[in-house]
Amino acid sequence: MMSMDPQELLSLCKRRGFLWPAYDIYGGLAGLYDYGPLGAALKKNIEEHWRELYVLGEGFHEISCPIVAPEAVFKASGHTDAFSDMYVECTKCGETFRADHLVTGLHEAPASLDEKQLGRLLKENKVKCPSCGGELTDPKRFNLMFRTSVGAGKGKVAYLRPETAQGMFVNFSQVYRFGREKLPVGAVQIGRAFRNEISPRQGLIRLREFSQMEAELFLHPDHKSWPRYKDVKGQVLELVPNKGKPVKMTLEDAVKAKTIANEALAYFIWLTYKFAIDVGLDASKLRFRQHLEKEMAHYAADCWDLEADIGYGWTELVGIADRGSYDVQAHISHSGADLTAFERFDEPKEVEQQVVRPNFGALGPLFKGKAKQVADGLSKLHVGSVAGKDGVTVEVDGEMCSVPSSCYEVVLKKEKVSGRKLVPHVIEPSYGVDRILFSVLDHAYTQKDDYVTLRLKGLVAPIKAGVFPLMARDGLDEIAGAICNELTKAGLAAYYDDSGSIGRRYARMDEIGTPCCITVDYESKKDGKVTIRERDTAKQLRVEIAKVPRAVETLLSGGGLEPVSALR
Ligand code: AMP
Repeated sequence: MMSMDPQELLSLCKRRGFLWPAYDIYGGLAGLYDYGPLGAALKKNIEEHWRELYVLGEGFHEISCPIVAPEAVFKASGHTDAFSDMYVECTKCGETFRADHLVTGLHEAPASLDEKQLGRLLKENKVKCPSCGGELTDPKRFNLMFRTSVGAGKGKVAYLRPETAQGMFVNFSQVYRFGREKLPVGAVQIGRAFRNEISPRQGLIRLREFSQMEAELFLHPDHKSWPRYKDVKGQVLELVPNKGKPVKMTLEDAVKAKTIANEALAYFIWLTYKFAIDVGLDASKLRFRQHLEKEMAHYAADCWDLEADIGYGWTELVGIADRGSYDVQAHISHSGADLTAFERFDEPKEVEQQVVRPNFGALGPLFKGKAKQVADGLSKLHVGSVAGKDGVTVEVDGEMCSVPSSCYEVVLKKEKVSGRKLVPHVIEPSYGVDRILFSVLDHAYTQKDDYVTLRLKGLVAPIKAGVFPLMARDGLDEIAGAICNELTKAGLAAYYDDSGSIGRRYARMDEIGTPCCITVDYESKKDGKVTIRERDTAKQLRVEIAKVPRAVETLLSGGGLEPVSALR
């Protein structure tokens, strides 16, 4: 197998109906692509398999949140302040470029540089406009979120989500309750994300609207493992740690040596590898690279990327990070909501904690008959909500009572408690669907002379079988049509084709990655059998018409034609 020129792959994709630039008849808009029938089916198959692993396999809860979100969400997450890249503009032709992309090779982590450092590096190396050679401006920051406003008139500031993750963080309590209030608990979401990328010139790799499959695993901060870790800890992976050389090691050794921060992170790195292989990525062109310390967010305990070697070079497909309590804590601080989990102790413990104590001497004269109810309301307040205030409001029988600070105080109290609240930590595997899809196509592409075959795995192939009558007459077409129907009924996407020579029809199916083809000939009318041809070996076998759906299923699950010939 070979990686190929991305332009050639994109042109095959356009020609054969996988994908093409969106709004082409109006000149298009960079960073937006349409999926055609084959691309949409391939994408659906990739997403379905991911869902199967995470939702059915690991028991994560799938949710679906709106794409538009109010400004407050991204103030809390830090996106309004920090989700930006730097760009430079050509003073001659006006084209814009990602500043850090222009210094790749001149610095080990260009994305970690600030405006001044980048500007200096560009000047020192006399970097000019890649398109026309003109002078470039100094780097400027640009927030990548698409801003919009919701409602008529001035409306409310809102943004298109730049990742699906925030929807899961803000819903932690709902997911936790749904999971019967236990940790660990996981949420997943598959959906669109939007980033106003500065200069998207790399097809599906850098889109302005793309799809993500994200999982958020909420964990107890002191128990960062996952039940199935023990089943896979002996598996060997090739790792590129941020210190030292690339190593092949078992997950268990990687965790023990602290190369990977904890067992849960190691498990999801392994699951990502399994997913990648399942959907047909080539193991020899994959690596897990640990973020350099400079690249890692300050709150992240550890972060690894699954990278694939494709026509664009090594490309990040998936990021898997231990994000600590950062995200949930940020939403607690900004919204005031109680996004905590409750840890029940084995036995009640005596703890000293701050509580709000009502002052009856002051409450009586002020609230008379209602003093007791006001006092009850005060006792229930969290110390955080009275700290530094002159007074608070307490609801009594639907009426809001203003209570001055002389009516209560914050005191230390010894109490027997059955447990404690804690802010969960998060491990986040974040997959970019479009990049994975493009890499699957890149790794599946093979060419011999002018003959192109996409060696897509049966699991993801958009069409599972081509069905051809040798001639579109004499009843052969009817038999082929009936076979197509039977395949479709069995959930196997089939494609009927009666035009051109059989060789041409095979070639068309090979080029779009169809794993097998069924040919109906004149003999079929006599012996009730058809020819099944396997794409990758071009081997052929006669099978009874009634067995065709089972034969295709058997072929798709691997092992070639041999298990098909053993079918009874
Ligand atoms: P990030 O939140 O930047 O770590 O992105 C998570 C994943 O989304 C990455 O691993 C990519 O696969 C994908 N991704 C990020 N930005 C883009 C983009 N502009 N176009 C396509 N995929 C993207």
